[in-house]
Amino acid sequence: MFKALVVDKDAEGKTFAAVKELQDAQLPDGNVTVAVQYSTLNYKDGLCLGSGGGLVKTYPHVPGIDFAGTVEASDDPRYGPGDKVVLTGWRVGEIHWGGYAQKARVNADWLVPLPQGLNTRQAMAIGTAGLTAMLAVRALEKQGLHTDQGPVLVTGAAGGVGSVAVAILAQLGYEVAAVTGRAEQGEYLQGLGAGQIVAREELNEVSRRPLEREVWAGCIDAVGGEMLARVLGQMKYGASVAALGLAGGAQLPTTVLPFILRGVNLLGIDSVMRTYDDRIDAWARLASDLPLQKLEAMVQEVGLAELPDLGRAILKGQVKGRVVVDLNA
Ligand code: NDP
Repeated sequence: MFKALVVDKDAEGKTFAAVKELQDAQLPDGNVTVAVQYSTLNYKDGLCLGSGGGLVKTYPHVPGIDFAGTVEASDDPRYGPGDKVVLTGWRVGEIHWGGYAQKARVNADWLVPLPQGLNTRQAMAIGTAGLTAMLAVRALEKQGLHTDQGPVLVTGAAGGVGSVAVAILAQLGYEVAAVTGRAEQGEYLQGLGAGQIVAREELNEVSRRPLEREVWAGCIDAVGGEMLARVLGQMKYGASVAALGLAGGAQLPTTVLPFILRGVNLLGIDSVMRTYDDRIDAWARLASDLPLQKLEAMVQEVGLAELPDLGRAILKGQVKGRVVVDLNA
């Protein structure tokens, strides 16, 4: 028997989540069984803990889009009992059962070995949010971003992706401008390395002018919507925006002018279907470029029973930094 947070649907189609005891025989198909030590809470988990947001197809369901733990049994030659592993992506926690359980059974292709220099708790303090932040940093670097080009904007900065993005960029020597709707998180963001705090109100309305003064050398955007549209018009000539989220909306009410008059690049960032090599590389960069004391400053640790409330909170943009779930709490 093992503990899991199970989401089910009642006759009226309303979902409800509860901690339950499950048996190994109830685990889904897969060739590696992992004793999960830590999972996390990401924006997508908020959706999967509640209505499902169109991501969850069958119930009962175990959410948790990422986890770290120890291999218990494996039919795949790449992993054996006792190996420490990390899982992100591959729609685990959405169409496959995920990490909100003391045991998970998955496909070996979806795993990576625990990165050197990180323990399982630290790997999940980073989690999908942090991996995505690193993928965005790498994409901007590939476009030629350098520390001498000016400030790099991070939107949704006090959230999970934003917090890690601020800390990585600052560690790499960039001047970081952090956009937040929570003025009270200014000190927290400065502690992570933000040199400038930008109030959300300054950017969350579309300007009547499609092009404004050129300000930002790069941007990591977790918000989308009107804020992304606004930011595109403020990018420096030839600069790039890594778009990875939709916390503020999925629409993009912009014009082509930033692209055709200023050569601005809009880079799409997906963390879910990344190749093994790509994930290995991004995790290695995280282990080297993210200061662990800053990572710790972002973390709150919880047990399974606290997740339904926190899931509702993250969808309202009320969670600060990263939530780590201890499966043995
Ligand atoms: P969080 O909720 O932790 O962070 C989102 C932040 O966005 C909030 O903390 C808040 O920051 C800000 N925000 C929330 N609502 C609004 C709004 N209406 N207008 C403007 N800003 C808002 O979520 P995550 O960091 O886990 O995820 C962020 C986004 O990235 C989500 O949309 C998620 O789906 C996406 N994502 C995408 C991935 C990919 O592979 N592309 C992987 C992981 C996440 P503040 O209070 O500082 O303003």
